[in-house]
Amino acid sequence: MDTKAFKRTLQQSENYHRRGFGHEAEVSQTLKSEYQSNLIGEIRANHNRLKRGNVTIVLAESFGFCWGVERAVAIAYETRQHFPTERIWITNEIIHNPGVNQRLKEMNVHFIEVKDGEKDFSGVKAGDVVILPAFGATVQEMQFLNDRGCTIVDTTCPWVSKVWNSVEKHKKGEYTSIIHGKYNHEETQATSSFAGKYLVVLNLDQAQYVADYILKGGDKAEFMAKFKNAHSAGFDPDRDLEKLGIANQTTMLKSETEQIGKLFERTMLQKYGPLELNQHFLAFNTICDATQERQDAMLNLVEEKLDAIVVIGGFNSSNTTHLQEIAIERNIPSYHIDSADRIGPGNRIEHKPLLKDLEVAENWLPDGEITIGVTSGASTPDRSVEETIEKIFALKAVALV
Ligand code: SF4
Repeated sequence: MDTKAFKRTLQQSENYHRRGFGHEAEVSQTLKSEYQSNLIGEIRANHNRLKRGNVTIVLAESFGFCWGVERAVAIAYETRQHFPTERIWITNEIIHNPGVNQRLKEMNVHFIEVKDGEKDFSGVKAGDVVILPAFGATVQEMQFLNDRGCTIVDTTCPWVSKVWNSVEKHKKGEYTSIIHGKYNHEETQATSSFAGKYLVVLNLDQAQYVADYILKGGDKAEFMAKFKNAHSAGFDPDRDLEKLGIANQTTMLKSETEQIGKLFERTMLQKYGPLELNQHFLAFNTICDATQERQDAMLNLVEEKLDAIVVIGGFNSSNTTHLQEIAIERNIPSYHIDSADRIGPGNRIEHKPLLKDLEVAENWLPDGEITIGVTSGASTPDRSVEETIEKIFALKAVALV
């Protein structure tokens, strides 16, 4: 399929929208009242700190809703306003935040269900309006919805589209796209759908394995088992690793994406020499600014003397998980929660340790004077951060009585 030509045709269709519908002013008021927080504004104005009683909260300099997410949510709200009677669907969570998704459900936006691992589009009829989320949709989904005669409202973040353009360039030059990401993450699935040949690597270890295979060869069966579900159809590591282009899921750990890019550059340099490097290696900068800012802010936050860090964001949110990884690397007790409801009753917190299931920690807030770092992922509204902070204050106040 010529994905580039398809996208071009789709973008010219009158049933395709990728901007709002002129209701920005009303929607921005609604979003402000539903998701913003006065307390957070106050803390920001106070150099990101707030002390109450024996608790000091230190907020990361940058956290929460990125502009891509804000934009997607605003367009979804505008869509509801613009199509008050039409049936509206969304192909996935608009963003990885349970509160925001719940709010859309209350506005009668239907979510495509996943049955036996497959999305069930059977309820979607011609004339329905279908929203594509901030992290995009696969080209096959877009084609299906277009063929079915749906109105498509595409909220894909422009940063994600930028990655898609990169993999289109890889494809044109017959480079295999090495995608740093999680093969089953919606954004990576969408990116893969635009790629020609691709291989998804999760981390530096996997990238090193591939680099070693390129330089020294290895066990092909083991390679294929290791990257099961993470490569294009018919992928052959003995044939398809001669020309590489680098791409990424926009919310991966920035430093790791850079290291992986450099690793493959070195590998191809070693194998083909400097004169031929450009024929074997291609990289564009596709790390999203918002991800970078939030990770940099977290790196600053962990320099503070903290008793614990609370990271707020959806449990399936990749960028939130990476923020928590930074706290773990510094050995600071960290608690990943998806809403303030996970705190209490009493001095307990239900949280998700990295790569584990939810668990409950009792007496998680130490006695006496404490300093707690707080940050949140790009899909988390300030209101959730405010509720979390209020709960921490309340909890310590109760403990003092
Ligand atoms: S994290 Fe970056 S790529 Fe993802 S929605 Fe936000 S701005 Fe866009």
